[in-house]
Amino acid sequence: MNTKFTFSQFLIRFPNDDSCLEEIKQLRYPEGSLCSKCHKKTNFYKVKGRTAYACQFCGAHIYPLAKTIFDKTSTPLRLWFYAMYLMVQTRAGISAKQLQRELGVTYKTAWRMFKQIRALMADTSGTPLTGTVEVDETFIGGKGKNRAYEHRLNLENEDKEILMGMVERGGKVYLKHIPNTGKWTLLDQIKANVDPKAKIYTDQYGGYTHLSRLGYEHDYVLHRDMQFTKGIVHTQNIESFWSGLKRGITGVYRVVSKKYLQAYADEYAWRYNNRKFEGKMFNRLLEQVPEVRVLPATKLA
Ligand SMILES: [Zn+2]
Repeated sequence: MNTKFTFSQFLIRFPNDDSCLEEIKQLRYPEGSLCSKCHKKTNFYKVKGRTAYACQFCGAHIYPLAKTIFDKTSTPLRLWFYAMYLMVQTRAGISAKQLQRELGVTYKTAWRMFKQIRALMADTSGTPLTGTVEVDETFIGGKGKNRAYEHRLNLENEDKEILMGMVERGGKVYLKHIPNTGKWTLLDQIKANVDPKAKIYTDQYGGYTHLSRLGYEHDYVLHRDMQFTKGIVHTQNIESFWSGLKRGITGVYRVVSKKYLQAYADEYAWRYNNRKFEGKMFNRLLEQVPEVRVLPATKLA
């Protein structure tokens, strides 16, 4: 497997805006695509000076950027690709402010690009986690310790936000910004995201005791008694995930506002879930471009 996609490789692969456009065109209209006008299997050729391509038989135009995150953008495509490169390659991500500096665009432009690229990173697969799944919550922001088992019952922590994490061992993680750690809040998330045949490991929190009644195979460790593993029963994967995520938040933002916590969590989870692709992570993100339809610019906040 390709280990790294270096910046010099990036520069060779994408020397100009047209090479970026060609990449999107290949993803959306590979050779032998059907022309919607003449209904022939065709190749589309670049129309000079435009972001359009023309059918080799009838000349009908296609617009590879239409309805993608790049639709009607006035920012050069290569800058978009560079922003995507930075968001994929940096371990904990990069802020809109850092993008602004790297790209030399206005903050408004950087923020808009940042938001659109994040839209590519949202997990919409809906595939349930299976096998052995570790579930835990963590507290983000505010003062003091943030381990769930130390603070979960302390209702004074109103300045803290709660993230719930479900990680399949050897697989994906799902993260949800939840309003509270009530039993049904937790159970509803598990029902929505974890296969009923999965084995679930948590800590001893009472919110999880109902899991076996829902048909899940459930076991737990007693963090209260400083028990962190019980053979294979442990939640160390999700816990080390939390420490990475928190270091990321501190390093990139210092604090993440409540409004954007889910978006940051999705972005961070995307990199974790695609970690095995290493140097191909950028390609994985590009492949999302045709999949993610965007609202017209006027509807963007
Ligand atoms: Zn045609």
